[in-house]
Amino acid sequence: MEFLDAEATKAHINVDNAQGSVFFPGAARIDPALLTHGLARVLRTQGVTICEDTAAGHIGKNVVSTNRGPVTGDTIFVCLEGYSDTVSGDLPGLAGRQVIPVFSSMIATDPLPTSAWEDIGWEGRECLGDTAHTFIYAQRTDDDRIALGGRGAPYAFGSGLPGDGEVPAEVVDLLRTRLSSLFPDLDFEVAHAWPGALGVTRDWCAGIFFDQDRRIGVTRGYAGHGVTATHLAAKTLLDRSSGQPTPLTSLPWNDHFSGRWEPEPIRWLGIRSMHRIFTIADEWEAITGAKKTSLLARFGSRLAGLHE
Ligand SMILES: Cc1cc2nc3c(=O)[nH]c(=O)nc-3n(C[C@H](O)[C@H](O)[C@H](O)COP(=O)(O)OP(=O)(O)OC[C@H]3O[C@@H](n4cnc5c(N)ncnc54)[C@H](O)[C@@H]3O)c2cc1C
Repeated sequence: MEFLDAEATKAHINVDNAQGSVFFPGAARIDPALLTHGLARVLRTQGVTICEDTAAGHIGKNVVSTNRGPVTGDTIFVCLEGYSDTVSGDLPGLAGRQVIPVFSSMIATDPLPTSAWEDIGWEGRECLGDTAHTFIYAQRTDDDRIALGGRGAPYAFGSGLPGDGEVPAEVVDLLRTRLSSLFPDLDFEVAHAWPGALGVTRDWCAGIFFDQDRRIGVTRGYAGHGVTATHLAAKTLLDRSSGQPTPLTSLPWNDHFSGRWEPEPIRWLGIRSMHRIFTIADEWEAITGAKKTSLLARFGSRLAGLHE
């Protein structure tokens, strides 16, 4: 792996007529599907068996019950993130509402013509994000679409899961509107939309746990930033399971207790209210040209358990 030098990773800050932007030249992007397939290929060549389409149920010492029969092992790692509630057992870091699924959804336009890209730019395939409280993120894909994501309807009562691929029409509309607001003259069609679940803890911090006696490890709570964090978490779990202290086992996310989410219906009401508050705060800050975070958004952050 090649590392960028410090100069190349310095942020470029641009402030113009109270509109600000920050450019990080060292930012990189990866294709997560390619990463997953590449990992699977390497693991298989090393003799690892991967069981797809197999749902784990109860997890106990040395055994995982699945819909295709029990799987035994000396050490078991539970890395289900937003889907952690789909398994049962006395699992470290998961007992009693410690992680919930929060939805994030994306849309992708049809491939845009060269004339559109001449206006938009993004020649370096830059990754883009705004800093709204209800933020969006976007990029130009290899086949010249815009892929844009955000959190529309972020939570379903009782920690419901997003299902297989259906994005509610109002969420697609919301993401489409956000894209139109960035490029009012752009003529585009939404070709694809897909949702997914993130694992979020009460303080939005990730945690890594390992029960030495039963040799069961758990990671969870990346809150939408797990593509790279999972790599570090996996290495940390391996070190934990070796029983030897290492620099990774002393990182603060080891055994970090984030608190517990409120029981329903308070949880649903709280998360819905928080999302509404952030939406209004974004509108208010845009209308007033606020240079500081509004009081409303600060209140929303406190409600959400976010660190300001
Ligand atoms: C739309 C969207 C955009 C995102 N964008 C970014 C981004 O730009 N950058 C970033 O860092 N992160 C991003 N994330 C978050 C990132 O995808 C996650 O943090 C990361 O995938 C977490 O990895 P994981 O392996 O811990 O969990 P997951 O990738 O969620 O994997 C959990 C796996 O467990 C499987 N599973 C669930 N239940 C069971 C069961 N009972 N038995 C067996 N298997 C089960 C699931 O099918 C899934 O494959 C995004 C997420 C979404 C949804």
